[in-house]
Amino acid sequence: MKKNIKNDSKDSKKVAAKGYRVSSKLIHGPELMTKQWDFSHHVVPPQSSSVTYAVSSAQRGALGFIQFASDKDVHKTPILIYDRLEEPNRNMLEERLALAEGGEMAIAFTTGMAAISAILGVLTRTGEHIIAHHTLYGCTYSLLANWFPRDGRGVTFTNLLDIEKVMREIKKETRVIYLETPSNPILEIIDIGELRKAVDKINAKRKKEETIKIVVDNTFATPFCQRPISLGADISLASLTKGIGGFGTDMGGIVVGPKELRHPLMMYRKDFGGVLAPKSAWPTLVYGLPTLDVRMRKQQETAMRVASYLENHPKVARAIYPGLKSHPQYKIARKQLIDCDGNFAPGSMLYFVLKGKPAVAWKSGSTIIDYLAEKSLVITLAVSLGMIKTLIEHPSSMTHAAIPVEEQEKFGIDPGGIRLSIGIEDSCDILNDLDTALKLIK
Ligand SMILES: *Cc1c(COP(=O)(O)O)cnc(C)c1O
Repeated sequence: MKKNIKNDSKDSKKVAAKGYRVSSKLIHGPELMTKQWDFSHHVVPPQSSSVTYAVSSAQRGALGFIQFASDKDVHKTPILIYDRLEEPNRNMLEERLALAEGGEMAIAFTTGMAAISAILGVLTRTGEHIIAHHTLYGCTYSLLANWFPRDGRGVTFTNLLDIEKVMREIKKETRVIYLETPSNPILEIIDIGELRKAVDKINAKRKKEETIKIVVDNTFATPFCQRPISLGADISLASLTKGIGGFGTDMGGIVVGPKELRHPLMMYRKDFGGVLAPKSAWPTLVYGLPTLDVRMRKQQETAMRVASYLENHPKVARAIYPGLKSHPQYKIARKQLIDCDGNFAPGSMLYFVLKGKPAVAWKSGSTIIDYLAEKSLVITLAVSLGMIKTLIEHPSSMTHAAIPVEEQEKFGIDPGGIRLSIGIEDSCDILNDLDTALKLIK
């Protein structure tokens, strides 16, 4: 690594990859030669595995600490000191994720939850207030409902589909509006642009440090289908464990946003310690992100077929998929879920409810889930999502069990609702197994 300290002749070969499409840059990186690491012969970046880094002099070591603590240029070659500060594999991944999401900078964390708690930790303090959509990933709900109030941060859960109502919930202490779109698990689509307009009116009357930030969890859509910052969000975040990682081998989380948040997020990550391990950054850098485009195209095509099949099935009461015209926010979906070529990109996630009263629907649901768990090669009963393998689960008793059942029903999570995350298997196999399972119920 000592060689890394001086810029050598390879510097001259650093060619900015201008004119290339994002999907190509996610495979090769934004530049021909990365500034993050000095290697020129590896076609695949070496997997970095060093907790600490040798520096050539005490002065250089001191400079490393000064640079880290200053709000420096994101793209400068860092002086590497210690894994918890900066690290080449992770830095390269962050650079590409900023690019994928169309943000100024990205900071990676151990898990999606570590990313969420870090950005909310940076944006709010005791006495301040967060407004969140009432359907959220179960652990995010639990973080906001159980932990934040303990240190005096107020949280109001409300329906972000009703922007006027949201505006009425805003207090002078409100600093964050937090949402998922599409939401987990029922795939509601919240209009980020309309929310931006409404929040801007309030922010115009506030001091800069008291403005409200819009934070969007983009895990379901992935940057292939949606770039929230381009739609008006201040911050886009995601669990790398899901669609971006894609292969289900590693956990991770990312926060993407304006460069003034880089410094506080890096300081927060250094001190709270939830830094993404290089060994987990590497598979996402080498396998996950480069294949996001091809995986999502295939998954989405199958998801559309499965959604149409479920929508027309006599035993299904409701099939929810942003690609179906029957989706309650279809118009907003058409506007927001767009791939880099400008095509409608409704994603790989589906939600459906079987016919009958809630208890009956749940019983029918368990019948098909149990059958698939036992007999299907291509549909696996498991939480997580966005993987190359198709996963089925029951949100009410699994991913969203942290939300009390009465609350779940109020917010539209049916006791018998079933979530499907479509993988890259042959779509006929997925449809055949679903069809066989649905034959088992009355
Ligand atoms: C899974 C998930 C998270 C949390 O991510 P982890 O990597 O499991 O910590 C956050 N938001 C959504 C929408 C998720 O599906």
